[in-house]
Order: sequence, then C-alpha cells, then structure tokens
Amino acid sequence: METRVSAASSSTNSPPSAKPAVLLRSGGLDSATAGAIARVDGFEIFALSADYGQRHRFELEAAARIAKHLGVKRHETVRIDLARFGHSALTDDIAVPKGRNTEEMEHGIPVTYVPARNTVLLSLALAFAETVAAADIFIGVNAIDYSGYPDCRPEYIAAFEQLANLATKAGVEGTLKFKIHTPLITMTKAQIIRRGTELGVDYGLTHSCYDPNVQGRPCGRCDACLLRLKGFAEAGLKDPLTYG
Ligand SMILES: [Zn+2]
Repeated sequence: METRVSAASSSTNSPPSAKPAVLLRSGGLDSATAGAIARVDGFEIFALSADYGQRHRFELEAAARIAKHLGVKRHETVRIDLARFGHSALTDDIAVPKGRNTEEMEHGIPVTYVPARNTVLLSLALAFAETVAAADIFIGVNAIDYSGYPDCRPEYIAAFEQLANLATKAGVEGTLKFKIHTPLITMTKAQIIRRGTELGVDYGLTHSCYDPNVQGRPCGRCDACLLRLKGFAEAGLKDPLTYG
C-alpha cells in the first residue's frame, strides 16, 4: 500500500484546542457536509481519501478540492486497489444503471456496490486515527437515500465502533474510546444539502456521478446523480454543477 499527501495543511478554521478527528472523504456532497459538521462541532480534521481503483479520477480531484475548502489539518490519500477483485460497476467494466426510479433504487443492492468498501475504508480511517490520537471518526453514510448499500446501515456502524475499541492498542489500553460519527445517517438528501448550505459548503466543488463524461461532467441519470438532483429539488436549491 502506498500513501501520499495530496493537499497542503491549513488549520485556520480550527481553534488551537480543537480535538482531532479523522474524516473519510470521497468527492461527494455527503462527506463534504459531514466534514463541515465536524468542523462546526470543533474538531480539527485529518481527512482520508482512498484511491481504490475507481474508473475515473474526478472523485479524487473533488476530494482534494473539498479538503482544501474545509481547511483540514492534513489530507492523506491511500492507494488500495479494490479494482483487482472487480465485481463492481464503480471499479470494473460493468455498465452503471441509468434512469432508475426511487422504487427501483430502494430494492436490492445495486451493481455500484463495491464489495466491503466501507469496512476497508473505516479500517484505514481507524489506523490513521490511532496514529494521530483521534478518538473520533466521521463518515458521511446515509441510511435514508442510501442506494441499498449494507455498509451504510446504523447496525453496521455500531458493530464497527465496537470492533474499533477491541482491535486497537489505544482501545484496549483505554487511552482512546473510538466513536464513529455518522451525522447524516437519518437525514434525507434534501436535509443534508440544506444543512451543508447553512454551513457554507460549496457543492460546486463536489462530485457525485458514477459515470461522468471525459471532461468530468456528471451524467444526470445514474443513481448518484438522480438522488443528488432530487435532493437539490426538494431542498428548493439549485445544484451548481453542469450536467451532460
Ligand atoms: Zn451520473
């Protein structure tokens, strides 16, 4: 595994006494909002993104832009090649579903599911957290508009939190009591967008689409685009991104 720093540090937004927290960062609007909530809750953010073999680079570019926008203390991108295993439309040559309605999205686990992704990512976040003595880990998972992913459910998060405290030196010795924060878990996409807008998140910097064109423009028809557009519409706000 290879690690590299992909964004400069800045702590202008955090008071000197701020507690460290690790934030799992994708390029999407959920993790941008989770980061803004962590910051307003007084945490100093150590952001972690994963280059897991996504079919496109735009998500990682967005993750770096948002890390800068949030004024994170440190942003690490870990390369871990989940594409070697295939079996996901996000990493393999499998068509991304388009034009599905909400009912279709609510049934079954879609092909955009990346096997065990959040367990892999939370394990990396936990390792990072232990090294920077951060007891708090933020992840922008959402169980309302969540596209059927099993590793976005509250019972999964509770199980991982228990594991974190059993699996680490800091947990066993009691120097850190790990907590997995999921500030968006019971929010709709519209509520997430409204909250982020109040906190000054620039959603023009985010990237949600599973299947962007070569310039990185979102398709407007995959599950991620449709949930995002529905969220902005229900929030009564305009998505700053240009589609197609
Ligand atoms: Zn799309």
